[in-house]
Amino acid sequence: MSSSTERKDFDATRKMRAVMGKYFTELCQGPAEGKKTAWCTSVGPAELLRALGFNVYFPENHGAMLGATRMATDLIPLANARGFSPDICSYLTSDVGSYLKGESPIQKMNLPGPPKADVLVYNTNQCRDVKDWFQFYGREWKVPCLGIHTPRAIGEMDGALVDYVAGQIEALVEPLEQIAGTKLDRGRLKQVVGLSRQCTLLWKGVLETAAHVPSPITFFDGTIQMGPAVVLRGHSDAVDYYNLLLTELNQRVAQGIGAVEGEKLRVYWEGMPIWGKLKDLSTQMLQLGIGVVASTYCNSWIFEALDPADPFRSMARAYSSIFICRSEDWKERYIAEMVARFRVDGIVYHDAKTCPNNSNNRYGMPQRLQEKLGKPYLVVNGDLNDLRLYSEEQTRTKIEAFAEQLAQG
Ligand code: SF4
Repeated sequence: MSSSTERKDFDATRKMRAVMGKYFTELCQGPAEGKKTAWCTSVGPAELLRALGFNVYFPENHGAMLGATRMATDLIPLANARGFSPDICSYLTSDVGSYLKGESPIQKMNLPGPPKADVLVYNTNQCRDVKDWFQFYGREWKVPCLGIHTPRAIGEMDGALVDYVAGQIEALVEPLEQIAGTKLDRGRLKQVVGLSRQCTLLWKGVLETAAHVPSPITFFDGTIQMGPAVVLRGHSDAVDYYNLLLTELNQRVAQGIGAVEGEKLRVYWEGMPIWGKLKDLSTQMLQLGIGVVASTYCNSWIFEALDPADPFRSMARAYSSIFICRSEDWKERYIAEMVARFRVDGIVYHDAKTCPNNSNNRYGMPQRLQEKLGKPYLVVNGDLNDLRLYSEEQTRTKIEAFAEQLAQG
C-alpha cells in the first residue's frame, strides 16, 4: 500500500492510549479497592457521578469496542436468544451477548472487566434502548437503575424544559448519595462541570481544525480521538490530552499538512460509525482523495451549555441540546451550517439498521437538504455493530459512484 493510502497517525495518539489505559485500569481495579461503580449513558449525568466519587463506566463505549474488534457479530445472537430482538440497538445486543458469554475486549487489556455496576444511570435523551439496556443489568444484579427522561424532537430550548430536566437531575442526588455513601460536595460538582466544559471546548477546537483546506483530521481519526471526551469528561486527563492534540493539529494546519494527501473532495458523515469497517472505509476514502471532514457523531460530545456557576440547569440544557433529541427542522439547520462551515461537497447518510434514532435519512431529510443546499447525498445501508446488515461490495461501489458524481460537481 502506498503511503498516500495510509492513515497518518498523530504523535499525541501514544499519550491517548496511555490516558485510556489508565482510565480502564482504575475502572476495573476500582471495585477491588472498594470504589463504587456507576454505569452511565453517553449523555447521562457523568459530572454528578464523578463529583460523588464514583468510577464512571460508559457501556456505549464498550459497545463501540465490541464493534471495532468485530466481536459483536458473534455475540449478538446470544442476546437474541435471551429475547432481545435483532432489530433493536446492536450496542445493547452485543453488550448483553458479551456479558452472557463472559468475553470482552477489556479482558484483552489483561483487566478484569467490564466492572459490575453498583448503580445504573441513564438518560433517554438519545433513545429508549439505553433504559431497557440498563434495566436488564439492574434486574440481573439487583442494583438500582435510575434515570432522566428527556423530551425528544426538541425545537427551541425553553426555560420550562430546562427546569423539568434539571429537576430530574437534582432528584438523583439523594439516592446516589446513599449508594455512594457520601454527601455531594457542591464545590466539587462545580469543579467537575468546569473541567467538562474545558474538555468540550477543546474537543470542539480539535474538530474545527477540519474547517481548514486541506483538513488535518478526518471523521475516522475523530472516532479514535474522541475516546477521552467520551469516558473522561469532567476529568483533568481529558483536558490535558486535548490541549496536546490541538497543538499538534494547529501545527499541521500551519504546515499545510492534510489528513488526506491531495484532498480533492470534502464530505460530511451523518449517522453512526460502522465500527467494524472504519479501516476499510477510511482507506477507500483516502484512495479516492475524499476527506470526511465533519460528522454529527463526533460533534455529539460538544456540550457548550455547561456552566460551573449553574451546574444542574446547565447540565440539563447541555444534555437536552444534543442533535439526536432535536426536531427535524433544528437538525436540518444544524447540518446546513456544518456543510457551509466545513466547505463540504456532499453528505453521506448512514442508515444504521438497528439505530433508527441516529439514522436521519428515513423521513426525507436528504432530499430536503439537497434541494436547499444543492449538495449531492449518498445513503449507505449498514449498522453500527451488526456486520450481517452491511454489504461491503455494495457500499464500495456506491462510494465510488458518489465520488464520480461529486467530482463532476
Ligand atoms: S442511540 Fe442508537 S446506538 Fe445509541 S444506544 Fe440508542 S439505539 Fe443504541
